[in-house]
Amino acid sequence: MNWSEKVLEREELLIDDLKQLVSIPSILDESTATEEAPFGTEPKRALDWLLEEGRKAGFTVKNIDNMAGHIEMGEGDELLGILCHVDVVPAGGNWKFGPFDGTVKDGKLFGRGAIDDKGPTIAAWHAMKMVKEAGIPLNKRVRLIIGTDEESGFR
Ligand SMILES: [Zn+2]
Repeated sequence: MNWSEKVLEREELLIDDLKQLVSIPSILDESTATEEAPFGTEPKRALDWLLEEGRKAGFTVKNIDNMAGHIEMGEGDELLGILCHVDVVPAGGNWKFGPFDGTVKDGKLFGRGAIDDKGPTIAAWHAMKMVKEAGIPLNKRVRLIIGTDEESGFR
């Protein structure tokens, strides 16, 4: 299996997913907090979006009290955790491109959270999908652990 080639094949798909996630302004907002969205509506929307992607792709998905969630694959007692988060800090001013547009320019995607942590999250998520699609049997479970309050309180 040439993984580098496989990665390039799904480059557009990955960028599309990252754009979708970046377009959700998942900033802590206590004013919209409810039991269903303890850190506000947008961090919850980002969590729901990613969990739905996992569900659609046939992974085991779990929502943990609307604060976090996970997408899991594989079999076995041992567990490899991949820790990520889908909340972002406020955008602030002085952006060349809209902070929630996910503009691609000169081989880079610009947006709030593109590096911390939405880009790495989508990269890990696609890596899991690639392993699953390749049909590689796993003797461990792999769990993408998705937080929604990393930037504010780590609750
Ligand atoms: Zn972070």
